[in-house]
Amino acid sequence: MKLNDPTLLRTDAYINGAWAAAPQDRRFAVTNPATGETIAEVADLGAAETTAAIDAAVPAQKAWAARTAKDRAMVMRKWYELIMANAEDLAVILTTEMGKPITEARGEIAYGASFIDWFAEEARRVCGDVMESPIPDKRFLTFKQPVGVFGAITPWNFPIAMITRKVSPGIAAGCACVLKPAEQTPLSALALAEVADRAGIPAGIINIVTGMDAPAIGETMCADDRIRKMTFTGSTEVGRILMRQSAGTLKKMSLELGGNAPLIVFDDADIDTAIAGTMASKYRNAGQTCVCANRIFVQDGIYDEFARRLTEASEAMKVGNGMEDGVEQGPIIDDQGLEKIERHVADARAKGAEVLTGGDRHELGGTYYQPTVLANMSSEMMMFGEETFGPVAGLFRFSTDDEAVAMANDTEFGLAAYIFTDSTSRLFRVSEALEYGMVSANTGIFSSEVGPFGGVKSSGLGREGSKYGIDEFLEIKFLCVGI
Ligand code: NAP
Repeated sequence: MKLNDPTLLRTDAYINGAWAAAPQDRRFAVTNPATGETIAEVADLGAAETTAAIDAAVPAQKAWAARTAKDRAMVMRKWYELIMANAEDLAVILTTEMGKPITEARGEIAYGASFIDWFAEEARRVCGDVMESPIPDKRFLTFKQPVGVFGAITPWNFPIAMITRKVSPGIAAGCACVLKPAEQTPLSALALAEVADRAGIPAGIINIVTGMDAPAIGETMCADDRIRKMTFTGSTEVGRILMRQSAGTLKKMSLELGGNAPLIVFDDADIDTAIAGTMASKYRNAGQTCVCANRIFVQDGIYDEFARRLTEASEAMKVGNGMEDGVEQGPIIDDQGLEKIERHVADARAKGAEVLTGGDRHELGGTYYQPTVLANMSSEMMMFGEETFGPVAGLFRFSTDDEAVAMANDTEFGLAAYIFTDSTSRLFRVSEALEYGMVSANTGIFSSEVGPFGGVKSSGLGREGSKYGIDEFLEIKFLCVGI
């Protein structure tokens, strides 16, 4: 990996403002999914080191919260600027450990940094209320105060943005964090910590615990009553475990979990917009995002043309190592991910799906998979109920609006949904009927620091980003004053 500043590549954990190796210098390998090569050996911490990180975070948080919001905002702004100044190196680290095309990685650095910039500003706008008192000789007020120290656990698919989306509202509010990144992508997390250190974020405010034993690290965070909030992005299954483990210490919870996004194309949609939006939503990060279209519902009148155009566009995609020019789809993160895609495609074929293009591993070998379009999909197939997390576009045919909405809602998940239509009344009717936290109309990309991100049902609890995101890290204190 060639970096302008090789000191961004850190392989020890970051606790209390210092770089920490594991006992007996235990390490785990981080591999490049594009080549299978080992890139680095990262410190393998466990439960005891997680507790040490919490020990450091507790006093640090009190001192940080005592500073003014404006003061915290100025330090965060410096962090943002240093990330942008080092954006190219951070993008190279991200692509090398995760596999997404470098253009997407650059986009993620800017997107990830935007949360720091946004919440640095939001820190200064946290306000309590003065309420009309129902009692003549009493006055009622509220304050908003930081929840304290929070635990964060993040996935591999957005190794920078899933961290900044949690850490920046938290530290803006005056909290401190102990964060465990995914074991596939610890290098981006450690590079972020290196830049935070340079920006002057005080010791103990951001602690990064790298390690293979996620259950032990997670349980230590959940069981410790000094951790007052857990924030997690990842699978629904692990989200449930963390919620269960946090019951004993009754923590505030934010859970950004799995999706099973419907994308509905109506007859009256502009076909160019629908194809561009579907390509963007389906193939971003090789289909490995929680908001990627997972079930594509297409109305009768436009179905054949849509299927033909989507097949052509999918066949034109360049697959390869994300560091190469022009590559639009990188490898799948690991063998487990690849096997899940293969299982879903085999199941769909066995139940009558027609392969319009792809349907197999890519000739590049490794974990590369062909951009795939399947027609004739039905609700009995695995892909209807579970996210595939791969570059497979499954097309389901429908006739009426009610039928599309019923199929879209027929899932335990409720994260993102997409619709393509030129009718304003249909746009509102269908958006309101969809049981999802986010609806994207006539565009395949909607995420930004300004819009609230989050799901309903088994897709989770809470919202990240936007003017609401900081509330997840604040408690409301009521003050009643007798006069
Ligand atoms: P995952 O297996 O749940 O892993 C996510 C994180 O949880 C990793 O850091 C992992 O550590 C850790 N973890 C695993 N088991 C744990 C346990 N028992 N206790 C505590 N932590 C544990 O999810 P994934 O497969 O990596 O990520 C993909 C999932 O994330 C998909 O379902 C996707 O939809 C979802 N996602 C949701 C959003 C959203 O905003 N809603 C955004 C992105 C992704 P290790 O890496 O060490 O195993």
